[in-house]
Amino acid sequence: MNQTMTSAPPTLPSRLPAHHVIGGASVAAASGATLDTVNPGTGQVIGTLPAGDASDIDRAVAAARRRFESGQWRDMKPAQRKKLMLTLADKLEAAAEEFAVLETIDSGKPISDTRNVDVPLALGTLRFYAEAIDKIHGEVGPTGPDKFSYAVHDPLGVIGAIVPWNFPLLMAMWKIAPAIAMGNSMVVKPSELSSLTALRFAELALEAGIPDGVLNVVTGTGQDAGAALALHRDVDMITFTGSGPVGRQLMRYSADSNLKRVSLELGGKSPHIVFADYPDLDRAAAAAAWGIFYNQGQVCTAGSRLLVQRSIHAEFVDKVLTVARTIRPGDPLDPATQLGAVISEKQLEGVLTRIARAQQEGAALRLGGSRARAETGGFYLDPTVFDTVSNASSLAQEEVFGPVLAVVPFDTPEEALALANDTEYGLASGLWTGSIDIAHAFARRLRAGLVWVNGWDACDITMPFGGFKQSGFGRDRSLHALFKYADMKSVTISTPTLSSLGVLPA
Ligand code: NAD
Repeated sequence: MNQTMTSAPPTLPSRLPAHHVIGGASVAAASGATLDTVNPGTGQVIGTLPAGDASDIDRAVAAARRRFESGQWRDMKPAQRKKLMLTLADKLEAAAEEFAVLETIDSGKPISDTRNVDVPLALGTLRFYAEAIDKIHGEVGPTGPDKFSYAVHDPLGVIGAIVPWNFPLLMAMWKIAPAIAMGNSMVVKPSELSSLTALRFAELALEAGIPDGVLNVVTGTGQDAGAALALHRDVDMITFTGSGPVGRQLMRYSADSNLKRVSLELGGKSPHIVFADYPDLDRAAAAAAWGIFYNQGQVCTAGSRLLVQRSIHAEFVDKVLTVARTIRPGDPLDPATQLGAVISEKQLEGVLTRIARAQQEGAALRLGGSRARAETGGFYLDPTVFDTVSNASSLAQEEVFGPVLAVVPFDTPEEALALANDTEYGLASGLWTGSIDIAHAFARRLRAGLVWVNGWDACDITMPFGGFKQSGFGRDRSLHALFKYADMKSVTISTPTLSSLGVLPA
């Protein structure tokens, strides 16, 4: 995207998506019920969405199944699927500004982030899997001359994707792009708090020539549309990003229905460790601040536990506070805003409750702790920093999912490692050190799916993303995610040997 576009004031879209996309048609909920779309930046209702339920999910799963069984997508030459997905990517790129604005008014994310991060990363994800799909090979088995055996990646069938509100388009794309590239059909259930970009993307897919029924989007609450999708007996897999409690529920739904596969990307309480020997503490402090305040702290990989070696503790916390004081909440549609609104009033209240509990538990509040910009009607929070937090406290153990940092001092590397791993989660982790030995030792022993050394959130589509422990299982991104949406099928053809044919002596 060019510079003019990234700094220009946004224009609001003339129309907001307001219907499910099922079998190529834009449709209302069968019940006629709707949900409000609220702009977190203003607290205002800006539109309505279908409040989907089991009957809408039934229609969408039937459309996805029909398309899958027709073979029109799964049996299409991979190079042709690639071509259509790249056409879709071109359309998304042409509509990038529309998508960025939709995402901002739906989720409260700053327009500078949706323009420069969310939409470009979603586009990169789509192109990565489109480009990959005609480069995937099966295997030929070393079974001897009486058999010809090969193994192929067979698409699973109908994939249900249930996604959260913190990166609505990007999280959906991490699932849609590999799943459809592999030849599956999908029913996507976006968060009821942020459904606009998924709906618009499904419309674009039809415009790009992706056959109807390949990508269906049904909106609605988790309890209604989400549960119906996860309990559906004709859905082969649920791929999920969201909270731990819902992840557990999805495993129960699978057990109670058809044992569909379940892939879970859940939360985190990621340790961000700073050793005294790292030579550029200003750089580390800026990363520590942005590691928690980016996206209003609503990032599953947020560096929410900052572990700082005691000899630099006071100096380093002052540096973090200096950066944090420059990060002020502002209107998400203002291109200069770096910190937007949190997703909802409920989320705002939940974060404030956790802040109050941390104070009761004795953590030292050094910055923030309050609602901001209340006069706008939007859901804003000041960046908040607690110092000298006990790692056993609720603030250090429970995911806040807001702009709240817990600083935990430590003395030795052994203590840092123990504190870092003392959590039920295991999504991201990171350390800043001048020692290559410490870097390697920690990379080996940190129990987390992601380890970043001397740079927080150094992500790339080529590398797998996902958690250890209660942060879930299954990986998004990278070629591993493609294979998640396929089963291995072994085919064996019995073949006469040359001797059994009499060509060679027995
Ligand atoms: P959530 O679990 O409340 O909701 C996620 C999705 O699940 C939504 O679409 C929701 O409608 C649906 N849902 C809710 N109840 C359901 C039910 N009973 N059956 C089926 N579906 C149901 O999470 P959220 O509040 O939207 O997102 C925040 C959470 O997501 C945080 O915990 C965060 O850490 C996590 N997250 C994880 C990752 C990751 O990759 N590990 C990425 C982003 C967010």
